[in-house]
Amino acid sequence: SEHHHRDHGPHRVGQVKEVTSLANPIVKDIKALAQKKARDETRSFIAEGLKLVIDALELGWTIRTLVYAKAAKGKPQVEQVAAKTFAKGGLVLEVSEKVMSTITRRDNPQMVIGVFEQRYSSLKDFRPKVGETYVALDRVRDPGNLGTIFRTADAAGASGVILVGETTDPFSLETVRATMGSVFAMPVAKTSVSDFLRWKKETGVKLVATHLAGAVDYRTIDYRKQPVVLLMGNEQAGIPEELAHEADALARIPQAGRADSLNLAIATGVMLFEARRHILSLDEPK
Ligand code: SAM
Repeated sequence: SEHHHRDHGPHRVGQVKEVTSLANPIVKDIKALAQKKARDETRSFIAEGLKLVIDALELGWTIRTLVYAKAAKGKPQVEQVAAKTFAKGGLVLEVSEKVMSTITRRDNPQMVIGVFEQRYSSLKDFRPKVGETYVALDRVRDPGNLGTIFRTADAAGASGVILVGETTDPFSLETVRATMGSVFAMPVAKTSVSDFLRWKKETGVKLVATHLAGAVDYRTIDYRKQPVVLLMGNEQAGIPEELAHEADALARIPQAGRADSLNLAIATGVMLFEARRHILSLDEPK
């Protein structure tokens, strides 16, 4: 990650590098970000698409490298993000279509991608207030589920996502894709079961755990008086006893039909929009 530092050397700042070779070391480094190990080591990740890159810059995320396909050259919006990237001391690469599809592992790649610094909130910085809703996910496994939950939490006006225990990486290509940009809008913290439970006690939130054996219809719960944390269980195992035990309510979504349970992201959506029903309205400005 040397290349994101401001350049004081003889090399000219603000010069686009043209790259066509897959063997180029910068391209190799970016390609490696498809692996969690490289993301962890560099604390960076890839966001695909011009709109996402523009949104991320607007929200103050730090870009390290902007990559665009030759065909995007000269487009005003691309020039603008390139200028912003240079202004932040980042690198700008113009690459062939082949390089682009290799980086993103796609046949029809986006014209623009950005390499951004990862950003985690500390759980201590989540200080829930009345009217706020957080989503806590116990060992979420599936990147598509996690991305969809980010997007849905953002849309429902939630204040943050809390990853409890070993979870899938919120900054993987697949998760970021599924968030449709909400990864840049939704603060995320990761924590252990014990730290989560300590935080729960200290902050005085109402912990609503969703459970297939839950005794309470999710529509009968009071979501208004306290800040709410919706706790959702692992795709296979559901919520473990030590977490369920500490919940203020064990909520169930009544179901019909043959399915045993709802998909995790769907269940999270149903819970979020119920918990925030009194706050969300079509009349209020966004
Ligand atoms: N086999 C798991 C179990 O027995 O808990 C199923 C887990 S389900 C696919 C994943 C998560 O979605 C659950 O832990 C719960 O948080 C939520 N969920 C799914 N359907 C639900 C329902 N009908 N009521 C409440 N929560 C539900």
